[in-house]
Amino acid sequence: MTDAKTSLPRVLLVEDEEHLAAGLKLNFELDGLHVDVAATGREAGRLLLQEQRYDLIILDVMLPDVDGFSLCQKLREAGNTTPVLMLTARGATEDRVEGLNVGADDYLTKPFELEELRARMRSLMRRSAWGQRPEGRTTRLLELGDARIDFDSHEVTVRGEIMHLTALELELLRYFADNPGRVLGREELQQRVWKLNDYPSQRMVDNFIMRLRRHFEPDPRNPVMFVSVRGAGYKFMPPSNRGG
Ligand code: CA
Repeated sequence: MTDAKTSLPRVLLVEDEEHLAAGLKLNFELDGLHVDVAATGREAGRLLLQEQRYDLIILDVMLPDVDGFSLCQKLREAGNTTPVLMLTARGATEDRVEGLNVGADDYLTKPFELEELRARMRSLMRRSAWGQRPEGRTTRLLELGDARIDFDSHEVTVRGEIMHLTALELELLRYFADNPGRVLGREELQQRVWKLNDYPSQRMVDNFIMRLRRHFEPDPRNPVMFVSVRGAGYKFMPPSNRGG
């Protein structure tokens, strides 16, 4: 999605450190992006209500009035599937895992290199145009037990109820659907789904598999569709491939 008037991709930067926010805004604007900055969760909420068409939200975890985790969770609960990249201040693993659990698509630990942030932003924003990309032969409709996934309309329903998946969850699911029964390594998934070659974070892959299992497996602790292959990666076993 782009701004109708300027055609610039739109980024919402939620960051209370004034100098960091100003520096990032300047850099991104030079990169040809439209950037709105919010210094608080409240301000971010106001902008999101006003202007819902962002292509990417960069969300600091430590904000003065609210933490980024709960803001992200609220967005997802409200059905907003805009890609979210979280900036975590601490390097603590539980912070990153928490971010991915509440529906963020990626994270970066402060302090970070501008180049790495740019690479991760490009990866997420390329994906936001993914729905309009009819390249190659890919799965368009998938049925998993009670769930029906329409990759063209991005609509996911479970027993008729709408379920909201992020663009990245959908793209990972589509990649699995395009490659049923094949062992897919974490590195391959990262390159093909995340489009990240230079910044490995395989834990992120594992975390997204957990999310898909929670969404679709009858018993996420004993997965039968998104199966781990020890030492190799994952294998997608759709119900129709199991003779059931
Ligand atoms: Ca902060």
